[in-house]
Amino acid sequence: MEHPYSDIAFQQAAADLCRYGKIMYDRNWSPATSSNYSIRLNDACCALTSSGKHKGELSAADILVVDWQGQPLSAGKPSAETGLHTQLYRRDTNIGAVLHTHSPSAVLLSQIWPSNLLILQGWELQKALTGESTHLNAVRIPIFDNTQDIEQLASDVEQHMQQHGQGHAYLIRGHGIYTWGSDIHTCFRHLEALDHLLQYELQRRQLGLATTTE
Ligand SMILES: [Zn+2]
Repeated sequence: MEHPYSDIAFQQAAADLCRYGKIMYDRNWSPATSSNYSIRLNDACCALTSSGKHKGELSAADILVVDWQGQPLSAGKPSAETGLHTQLYRRDTNIGAVLHTHSPSAVLLSQIWPSNLLILQGWELQKALTGESTHLNAVRIPIFDNTQDIEQLASDVEQHMQQHGQGHAYLIRGHGIYTWGSDIHTCFRHLEALDHLLQYELQRRQLGLATTTE
């Protein structure tokens, strides 16, 4: 098979995905083989976790390479949600990594949230998101209904981004979170910040306090 990517880049990406995979599994964000993580290799393909792997025990053999059509360029079975990763890489060459987890804060908050838009405002930790410089900004996190039709969902996400901007992340109701960044370290920082921000909103609701919504 032709190798349209560098082996060195793949080995580095695989090592990073395994390392962060262990961290995310240990945080309880990726239970029961759920979640998927990817890193851009070049302008045509990314390294992505294979379907159904234990995320706390990943090795390089559990990482495959797919192109922007989701076609495997190396051995392994792509995740069912590959299309949600490639949609992001296709639309923005500055995106270098995408992380999707089933963290309890994202799953629970998206399930109980009364609208399709969560607005984060007034939290200092918003500044962990690239480009955000003040807690005063409104960070808009859209919520999409869960579906097994990933092609349709990817199309809905793309349409939403064209209308409302790319933003930093989105939630899938009762399912989890997607976020992205210029590289895996930045992307993980976004994920970690968002987990805290979602927990703040979750606890605010539990306390019966008003939340920002539309
Ligand atoms: Zn998922």
